[in-house]
Amino acid sequence: MDIHQTRTWVRSIAAAMDQHKDHLTQLDSAIGDADHGVNMQRGFTAVVAALDGYEPAGVGDVLVKTGTTLISKVGGAAGPLYGTFFRATGKQLTGPVADAEQLAAAFDAGLAGVQKLGAAVLGDKTMVDALAPALEAFGAAARAGEDEATAAEKAAAAAETGAKDTIPLQARKGRASYLGSRSIGHQDPGATSAALIFRTLAEVLKP
Ligand code: ADP
Ligand code: MG
Ligand code: MG
Repeated sequence: MDIHQTRTWVRSIAAAMDQHKDHLTQLDSAIGDADHGVNMQRGFTAVVAALDGYEPAGVGDVLVKTGTTLISKVGGAAGPLYGTFFRATGKQLTGPVADAEQLAAAFDAGLAGVQKLGAAVLGDKTMVDALAPALEAFGAAARAGEDEATAAEKAAAAAETGAKDTIPLQARKGRASYLGSRSIGHQDPGATSAALIFRTLAEVLKP
C-alpha cells in the first residue's frame, strides 16, 4: 500500500461513513445515544479536510494525521479509540510503501492501543469484536505470503462476521453496558463501523 492508496482509503472511509451514517446512528439509538453515525461522519469529514494539502513523507504520516484529527474532533468513545487505532498503526509505518506483513504488524499495534485505552477484550460487544478477528485474518494471510489486497479481503469478511456476532452478546464496555442484558439482540455500532473501515480497505486495494 503506497501513500496514494492510503489517502484513497481514508477518503473512502469518509464516503462510507456518509453513506452509512443513518444506519450507524440507528444501531446506536438501540443501545447507546444515537450519535455514532454522526460522530464518524463528522470525524472523517474533518480528516479529509486535514489531509487536503498535507504532504506526507510516508504511509504512516497519513494514518497518524487521521488519528490525531479524530482524537481532536470527535467526542464520545469512538473518536479517541479510532484515533488511537490510526495513530498507533501509522507510527509503525515509516516508509513510502507498506507490504502485507508490515501492515499486519502495524494494525496489531493499532489494536493494542485501542485495548490499552478502552480495556475491552473480545466478547465485550465493542469495535474490538470486529477489529480483532479482522487483524487475525489479515496477519494469517500475510504470514501465508498473500498480498495486502487478499489479506484485506479476508480481514473485511472476518470483521463483518465479527460485527454480526456481537448481536447475541451483552455489552461489558461503553455506554451500551449500562443497559445490562437489554443490550442483547442488537448489533454493536462500533463493530459495524470497524467492518466498514476494513471493507473500504479491501475495495481500495482490490487490483
Ligand atoms: P459514545 O458511546 O460515547 O456515544 P460512539 O457512539 O461514537 O460513542 O461509539 C460507540 C462505540 O464505541 C460502541 O459501539 C463500541 O463499539 C465502542 N466502544 C465504546 N467503549 C469502548 C471501549 N472501552 N473499548 C472499545 N470500544 C468501545
Ligand atoms: Mg453513541
Ligand atoms: Mg455519544
